[in-house]
Amino acid sequence: MQDVDFVNGLLDFITKSPTPFHAVSTMAEILNANGYTYLNEKDQWDLQGKQPAGGRYYVTRNDSSIIAFQINQPLLDKGIMMVGAHTDSPCLKVKPNPEIINNNYLQLGVEVYGGALLNPWFDRDLSLAGRISYLNVDGVIEHQLIDLEKAIAIIPSLAIHLDREANSKREINKQKHLPPVLMKFPEGDVDAKLNFKSVLLKIVNANLEQTDVNKVKAQKILDYELSFYDVQQPAVIGLHDDFISSARLDNLLSCYTGLRALLDNDGEKNTLLVCNDHEEVGSASAVGAQGPFLKSVLERLCESDEGVSRMIANSMMISADNAHGVHPNYADKHDGNHGPLLNSGPVIKINANQRYASNSEISAVFMHLCELADVPVQSFVVRSDMACGSTIGPIMASEIGVKTVDVGVPTFAMHSIRELAGRWDAYYLYRVLKQFFK
Ligand SMILES: [Zn+2]
Repeated sequence: MQDVDFVNGLLDFITKSPTPFHAVSTMAEILNANGYTYLNEKDQWDLQGKQPAGGRYYVTRNDSSIIAFQINQPLLDKGIMMVGAHTDSPCLKVKPNPEIINNNYLQLGVEVYGGALLNPWFDRDLSLAGRISYLNVDGVIEHQLIDLEKAIAIIPSLAIHLDREANSKREINKQKHLPPVLMKFPEGDVDAKLNFKSVLLKIVNANLEQTDVNKVKAQKILDYELSFYDVQQPAVIGLHDDFISSARLDNLLSCYTGLRALLDNDGEKNTLLVCNDHEEVGSASAVGAQGPFLKSVLERLCESDEGVSRMIANSMMISADNAHGVHPNYADKHDGNHGPLLNSGPVIKINANQRYASNSEISAVFMHLCELADVPVQSFVVRSDMACGSTIGPIMASEIGVKTVDVGVPTFAMHSIRELAGRWDAYYLYRVLKQFFK
């Protein structure tokens, strides 16, 4: 795939994926179109007899985590080449009883999901997306993904005249300062009983009418997981188009890159892509990297415990999650010898205390893959006087015992509502992952 098509595909994928639910549904759509078959975790898979028959399958859990794989060779002897990433990004999630009416304005109470950089959330045109669970008129519980697409809310900043120290000492109280403003009631006509779920009910039924006239109508909203997102489209920017500016680059960039590499390889090895939800909140959940999802899929591909152990010993995982590029205005935040630059290639993340899973054996393999793919490679080690972040790599390595290297493209503004990556780095990573799968 050429770099222009790759980048356009990436921007399109991010636009279509405002939440982990949408990311998984977009990936499933692409996998279906490329000959992958959906496997339901509740069914008997019976795949052992079919190996190695070039089977291509994918499994989802909670609609927010996904594993796609292709089996071409005997699994136990050849192992499986795995790429891991995560579908979630820090955001503001709507609370269960969110209605706030204040000075005639309608606002929604929100909870901060993950380690969001909150300042950039102010003065952005926000829309709402996620999953709604409802009872239909036949008494059956159904689920619907919604994406309102248009801007319906905003968190306005306080004017500097009312906060003279805003540029030096601004404090953000998550409870008081974050509820987005959705509307202003006409004077003397405040609907104090306005119920968010009844608004959602209308949206769900309107969607049903539009997409499927025979679908049974919803009678009651039971629950939802909805989050706000910035409606500004991802873009290639810079004097020489050097950068990608977008929400959720951490880590939809790696999800898309892994997916494309999986689809575009020539299909000789056993390959697998795992994209987990809940990385931004520690990965400990039924669908997170610390949960049993990947392990359970691998176990179902082998006939015995020993088989699983043999397969894992023959396998390798590249955990792809973005890295911190050295910021020209804050260069002293990096170790002088380990400041990755944008558009200078993917970064191997190293930490002696195992906050990253990389070790010399497996980093060497990644370096060699970069050489074969003719891609530059960099390394990152956090300053010795600063705390190190982490990612899914060490968690998955601990859970299943697979050799793992943590890599990622260098970015700026990680966890902002608008992040920045090098336009070439994503394509470099794609080429390396394709080489890995080849
Ligand atoms: Zn991440």
